[in-house]
Amino acid sequence: MYTQDIIKMIKTNYPDQKEFHQAVQEVLVSLEPVIAKDKKYQDNAILQRMVMPDREIAFRVDWMNDEGEVQANTGYRIEFNSAIGPYKGGLRFHPSVNSGIIKFLGFEQVFKNSLTTLALGGAKGGSDFDPKGKSDAEVMRFCQAFMNELYRHIGACTDVPAGDIGVGAREIGYLFGQYKKLTNRFDGVLTGKGLTWGGSLARPEATGYGCVYFAQEMLKERGESLSGKICTVSGSGNVAIYTVEKLYHLDAIPVSVSDSKGTIHDKNGIDLDLLKEIKEKRRESLEEYAKIKSDCKYIKISDYQEGTHPVWSIPCFAAFPSATENELNLYDAKTLLQNGCKCVSEGANMPSTIEAIELFLKSKICYGPGKAANAGGVAVSGLEMAQNASMYSWDFESVDKKLHSIMESIFVKSSETAKEFGDPTNLVLGSNIAGFRKIADAMIDQGI
Ligand code: NDP
Repeated sequence: MYTQDIIKMIKTNYPDQKEFHQAVQEVLVSLEPVIAKDKKYQDNAILQRMVMPDREIAFRVDWMNDEGEVQANTGYRIEFNSAIGPYKGGLRFHPSVNSGIIKFLGFEQVFKNSLTTLALGGAKGGSDFDPKGKSDAEVMRFCQAFMNELYRHIGACTDVPAGDIGVGAREIGYLFGQYKKLTNRFDGVLTGKGLTWGGSLARPEATGYGCVYFAQEMLKERGESLSGKICTVSGSGNVAIYTVEKLYHLDAIPVSVSDSKGTIHDKNGIDLDLLKEIKEKRRESLEEYAKIKSDCKYIKISDYQEGTHPVWSIPCFAAFPSATENELNLYDAKTLLQNGCKCVSEGANMPSTIEAIELFLKSKICYGPGKAANAGGVAVSGLEMAQNASMYSWDFESVDKKLHSIMESIFVKSSETAKEFGDPTNLVLGSNIAGFRKIADAMIDQGI
């Protein structure tokens, strides 16, 4: 079969890129019905072309630490597909970054951006640089060195990077400052900018808020709501914090957050102000949260049973994985379902393993795959680009309203497509096919 041949080709050609194989397999298997239905996709070799990035850029980043020692990291920008708009996607700074991770994220981004209803192609980038424990001056020097190469490849109508793990407002500021020095241009070339210099209101909140709006839509269709319900959230970065905030707006009770060192279970509800203080201002570990709020439970990662993530053992009505890829496996999925979980809405990219997803789909709970559920961040980045292009800025309520309406339309489109293909609750199939058709048709229109 055509899709299986492509998956095999990817595994043979890039044997070490496990996360990329996983992302391709998840998408291609769900595209089988549309490939079988419409011969034009195979005739135009669309799948072979979609799994290959338009361009892969890797470069060395030389910078100096506070001790005066020269350091070298690797930087990446993978421009995956520009059939429906300029390349768009975040930059990740984390020691685990390699070309396979950036490729899986870029591939996912293509489909996600297509679903937003905006004209955005897909890309991703980053570096194996670890901002943790670095001084502001070190982060600044690294960002400047990274931009010394990246500036050649980006532009407001070409490629517009944003943040991701390890890249927040501070890093975007330093990157933008260096771009401006190198080019003498004040362009909307990055999103997630500061509010006084081109950023959009509601961009920091967008991914978390959007992920909760998506859960709300899935539940509404079944006559359910989040009000009064216990929810679990993993991660404690940008996505997790604003997921917790929106859950409170909807009268839900978010009881957990986690980081790379451990998990907090605060059964009366996470103290959002304290969480923001520790993570956004002090940039400390959640151990500090547990020290201050002595009535909560803190489980250290070193005490976890191997192969499990304690955050998913907390009974909940809805779960919001918002940390990183493959943070929820089959064991965790079984535990969630046994404890009565009715909804999983993914804030992170590819947080659930293929086996966990299969179980969620089989159980017919509300399952919102990351591509659809976390598209709010890039959607508001698209709105930031629109505001920059018109040299005008919208108020918080207007952006939030647009975000809400985009999340509703992503749900409707994914759900309608799932129904069209005879599997009404399967939003993996629905979102992948809906995202795919728009890009594939544009590629065919534009020729080879
Ligand atoms: P942040 O850097 O702000 O936060 C990441 C959080 O996840 C931190 O709490 C971090 O813990 C934790 N984490 C990261 N890696 C691991 C790991 N290997 N094991 C356990 N915990 C880990 O990133 P974001 O909140 O921006 O991103 C979170 C996820 O959401 C990612 O998958 C990202 O790709 C996705 N995403 C983000 C968007 C955005 O707008 N920011 C948009 C769409 C998706 P610690 O602090 O200890 O490192």
